[in-house]
Order: sequence, then C-alpha cells, then structure tokens
Amino acid sequence: MTSRWILILLALVLTTPAAMADKQYGKQVRFAGVHPIPKPEGGGMCYIEGPHVHIYAANKIEYRRHGDDNVFIGDPVAYGWDGPKYSYKGPHPIHVDVVVGGDPDTEYCYLEGPHYHHFTPPEDPDFKVAGDAYFYVGAPPRAFIDARPTYTGINAVYRPMVYTRPVVEVEAPVGWIGARAEFVGPGVVVAPALGARVSAEVRMPVPSVNVDIRIGGPAVIVHQPPPVIIVPHGKYKHRKFKGRH
Ligand SMILES: [Zn+2]
Ligand SMILES: [Zn+2]
Repeated sequence: MTSRWILILLALVLTTPAAMADKQYGKQVRFAGVHPIPKPEGGGMCYIEGPHVHIYAANKIEYRRHGDDNVFIGDPVAYGWDGPKYSYKGPHPIHVDVVVGGDPDTEYCYLEGPHYHHFTPPEDPDFKVAGDAYFYVGAPPRAFIDARPTYTGINAVYRPMVYTRPVVEVEAPVGWIGARAEFVGPGVVVAPALGARVSAEVRMPVPSVNVDIRIGGPAVIVHQPPPVIIVPHGKYKHRKFKGRH
C-alpha cells in the first residue's frame, strides 16, 4: 500500500462520527435520576428520572456512585427544583435503590441543617417526623460515621447558597443524630464553591485528611449545546413518589 493510501485511510478514520463526537463532546458520564446541571452547561435541574448520560462530570461531594451511575443526593431546591420536595433535618441514610432503582445501596447525606430532598425515606422506625420534617434517630452504622470527614464539606458548599430552605422549628426528637457526639463539631471543613468555575483538575487543599475532592465545573468544557442521550436500560424502573406516611 502506498503511503498516499495510508494517509487517505487515516483521514477517513479520524473523521468518522464517533471520532468527531469524542473530540467535540468529550467523555460521557452516566447519571441516574434528577440532578443539577452545572452552571457552565446552562444551570438549573435535569428532570430525567431514568439512567442517562451527559458530557459533564458529577462532583464527588453531592453525588454517589450507584453501579455505573452517578446519583445526586444533595438538595435539589437549591438549584431551582420545583417538583415534590420533602423536609429533612440533619444527616441521614438514603436508600438509593428506592430512589432510582438498581441494586440495594445505602448512601449517606451529611447536610446538617434543614434541607430538602425530592424523595421520602422508606418506612423505617429510624426516621421520625417532627414539625413536618424527617429526623434520623437510628444508630449510625460505622460506614456513616467513618465517611463523615470526606463528605461533611457539603455543608460549607450549601451554607452560602441563597434559596428557601424548610423552616424546622420543633425540637428534635430524642435520639436525633444531630445531637450525637460523632456528628457534632466541624469535622473537616472544605469550602469549595460549586457555582465557581473550578476546573475539575484542581485539587482543593484539604487539611488533615487525604481525600481527593473535585468540585464544580465540568471535566470537559464544551461550547456546543450538550446533547442529552437517553440510554434505555430495562433493569431500572422509574421512581415513583411515595406518599409521606
Ligand atoms: Zn441529566
Ligand atoms: Zn439529606
């Protein structure tokens, strides 16, 4: 084969749609359930409930891995969510599989004050309702306590956000996690600004604990409007909003 033919073949390979898509749109990142859209990508909320992909990254503090997907476990109201919302006060477990389907998976929310989620907890005596808010009163599993230094920085992220939080003025029920010694105190405070265009490659300095926290803007900055590509995925069922009681 002459070198001219090799060059032509090479040119064909490099201009296939797949190669172009890769070049223009970057890496696809899997999401399951609703989540905020990074500001540089338009902001607001993505309302797709099933598994799907985007070309921007999910940060490590508001998302948890669930199988191959990233699931948002922060407060969607902070990003303009106008769907059903339920008040919580203090940290609590989240049964991610109940929210988005998939294999059983318990993750933990470390937001300390009153906040919202778009799902209720499952029927569980470890959650008590007071003043229209859910309080976790169970004994926290070891994993819940151990990961607190890694994730408690979410409080520093949400504190400066301006939005209408739930008003929870009742006294917390007996056994509330927010009164437990392991959950009092600053822990490790990381204060990255989610709204800022922090490159995904910037590593925030984290005192006293060695975690790699990447926050903020997309891993890939794309100037074309991002396509939303729905990946059909039979094994997931769409979330249903459950009644409060
Ligand atoms: Zn989405
Ligand atoms: Zn929460």
